[in-house]
Amino acid sequence: MDLKALIRDIPDFPKPGILFRDITTLLSDPAGLKYSIDTLAAKVVDLQPQYIVGMESRGFIFGAALAYKLGIGFIPVRKPGKLPADVHCVEYALEYGTDKLEIHKDAVAPDGRILIVDDLIATGGTAAATAKLLQEIGANLVGCAFVIELDALNGRSLLPDVPIISLVHY
Ligand code: AMP
Repeated sequence: MDLKALIRDIPDFPKPGILFRDITTLLSDPAGLKYSIDTLAAKVVDLQPQYIVGMESRGFIFGAALAYKLGIGFIPVRKPGKLPADVHCVEYALEYGTDKLEIHKDAVAPDGRILIVDDLIATGGTAAATAKLLQEIGANLVGCAFVIELDALNGRSLLPDVPIISLVHY
């Protein structure tokens, strides 16, 4: 299936010079959504993840659907102040300034096998920060999966040495 045909390109969003890859048009297409989840599942099943960790907010959509498909658990990584129990927090660099992500300290049993899922990897900063959070809570990262990878930014170079799967490359 031609997933690129279902992904909408929006120039200069959210700021000038960014070509935004809009997955809302993919999500609303029943065949496209099903194909995306089924194909991700087929590509990651051999990694035998026990949990999917998805990042706020588009990682929740694909991550939760993929967890359901695989019959495994889903763990949210959220922006600061959203998770109600004790959290680990990691601060990471953005183009301008910094941002933070949080995970519940007790989210994963020690050595739990984790797959990180997000809609898109650009610079890799978000996924790398999530990998650091997982390291802090003693989880075992077995892979990362994305619907879209922006190859020119080489975000995967920031990630630990685990399999990295992307369905669509730009
Ligand atoms: P990064 O941390 O640079 O890898 O950015 C990844 C996060 O930012 C993902 O959660 C994406 O949803 C979002 N993102 C970054 N660049 C784009 C883009 N060109 N189009 C759509 N989303 C993007």
